[in-house]
Amino acid sequence: MAAGLIDGKAVAKSVRKELKGRITALKERGVVPGLAAVLVGDDPASQTYVNSKARACEKLAIYSEVIRKPATISQDELTKIVEDLNANDRIHGILVQSPLPKHIDELSVTLTIRPEKDVDGFHPHSVGMVLIGRPVLIPCTPHGIIKLLEHYEVDPSGKEVVVVGRSNIVGKPVAALLLQKGPMANATVTVAHSRTRDLSEVTRRADILIAAIGHPGTITADMVKQGAVVIDVGVNRVDDPSTEKGYRLVGDVDFEAVSQKASLITPVPGGVGPMTIAMLMSNTVSAAEQTLLTGI
Ligand code: NDP
Repeated sequence: MAAGLIDGKAVAKSVRKELKGRITALKERGVVPGLAAVLVGDDPASQTYVNSKARACEKLAIYSEVIRKPATISQDELTKIVEDLNANDRIHGILVQSPLPKHIDELSVTLTIRPEKDVDGFHPHSVGMVLIGRPVLIPCTPHGIIKLLEHYEVDPSGKEVVVVGRSNIVGKPVAALLLQKGPMANATVTVAHSRTRDLSEVTRRADILIAAIGHPGTITADMVKQGAVVIDVGVNRVDDPSTEKGYRLVGDVDFEAVSQKASLITPVPGGVGPMTIAMLMSNTVSAAEQTLLTGI
């Protein structure tokens, strides 16, 4: 039987609906949430992501600024931009779109962002708070995955979760969230990666399988347990001359075959992607709310 589809667009819409009320309440208290995105260089995928984030802000009447700089920017210039945004009262959230040019020390840039404005959730302060079970600003993609599971009433408690991928932005934080003691967590989590011996043997144990790999079709049907919930984070461009752009987007999972075995599955596009942006909006609103509580 074919799996049910996890509709990220619909869940993202419900997140945005909930945010609208919070944004109105903030405006009544004189605060308009503000997000600044810094885009360095002319990577087409980064431009698309930043444009989508700016459009999402516009739809929610969140103030947004996009600061575009050439790839030749120096470390000092980039640091100064972030410091100015740290001091800017209109801006509650700052993101610096990756990848950054090779001569830029990305960690140093992340460390410059004030943790209160770290809406990507990449600052070691945000990461540490997630790890100790006191999350403040949660990385957007992992948070989006938890929201999807919650919406479809997939409680990870006691379940075997296998995360394939150990990046700092997806694999590690989603694993950290799911192993916490608390609601929408309490899972038994295994993190697999390119050095994992017998990946199929590991993935077949999963009640919930999360693929964040970056290679199309890595997860095939024989790697999936019957009835598993499959979350495909991957976004990969594959050539497709039949499309206007000459390519199409696919995930890390062989969707056609795996959906015959899974109970629920996210499509690509339209699964995790819309949730990432929705949770970025959510973090921006939370950061703005926090300024009212702390007065900073
Ligand atoms: P990274 O390249 O940082 O990490 C990929 C991970 O996959 C690494 O841990 C790597 O192992 C592991 N890996 C690679 N090949 C294999 C393999 N054959 N078997 C097992 N593990 C493997 O990627 P990201 O985490 O940043 O992103 C992953 C994917 O998710 C990408 O397609 C990206 O575009 C997408 N993405 C989508 C988002 C969304 O909103 N939908 C947001 C963020 C990312 P090792 O560590 O050993 O190298």
